[in-house]
Amino acid sequence: MSQLARSTYVITDPSEIVRALVGLKDVSVLAYERHGPEVTLVIEQVVGRVTCPECGTPARVKERPLVTYVDLPVYGAPMRLTWKKHRMRCANPACPRRSWVLGDHRIAAKSCLLTTRAAKWVTEQVGTGRSVIEVARELDCDWHTVNSAVTTYGAALLAADTKRLTRTSAIGLDETSFVRRKDQRTSYATTVCDGLFGFWRGESHLTTIDPSTRQLGLPA
Ligand SMILES: [Zn+2]
Repeated sequence: MSQLARSTYVITDPSEIVRALVGLKDVSVLAYERHGPEVTLVIEQVVGRVTCPECGTPARVKERPLVTYVDLPVYGAPMRLTWKKHRMRCANPACPRRSWVLGDHRIAAKSCLLTTRAAKWVTEQVGTGRSVIEVARELDCDWHTVNSAVTTYGAALLAADTKRLTRTSAIGLDETSFVRRKDQRTSYATTVCDGLFGFWRGESHLTTIDPSTRQLGLPA
């Protein structure tokens, strides 16, 4: 039986229930929209006093553009999150800063079409073996949207994981033919990975370094 202490948190106010279900910090839920099978939540940031990043003058709202992101499915249904953003302008006529849009990476990162939580989820899903198209179907979006997020977030994870190669003692090399046609030369993909901690671990084609010669030993 678990020894962890359990705490109970109960809310009964409908607005607080919605806020808890949406699960995003510092946002207000403006609307729930359903267009056929598509469900969209419309949110906005809770914004306090905003000043110009250039001159410090209090800023004014210039526009409220709507940007829609692919979010995680809710209760089995694909979900969209439409963010009603704040485009601000500086009230100082002498200031060179014209306008800027308020952002929050906890909701969605710049130039990503998925919410941050959806982008992290698809990266984990693809990183642990699911295909991009399978994940895209679950979110009801296209292959490129998921692949772009996985590439961006996966690269950031690799860059941050500086210790992943410090214990490498064997390097795996594998060459696989992936285009084999009669009218064309066979093409090969060469894979290099950590022989002990990579995904080749325990398989027969593990490549090792011969300790006597310090040479890479290719599999027989
Ligand atoms: Zn300014």
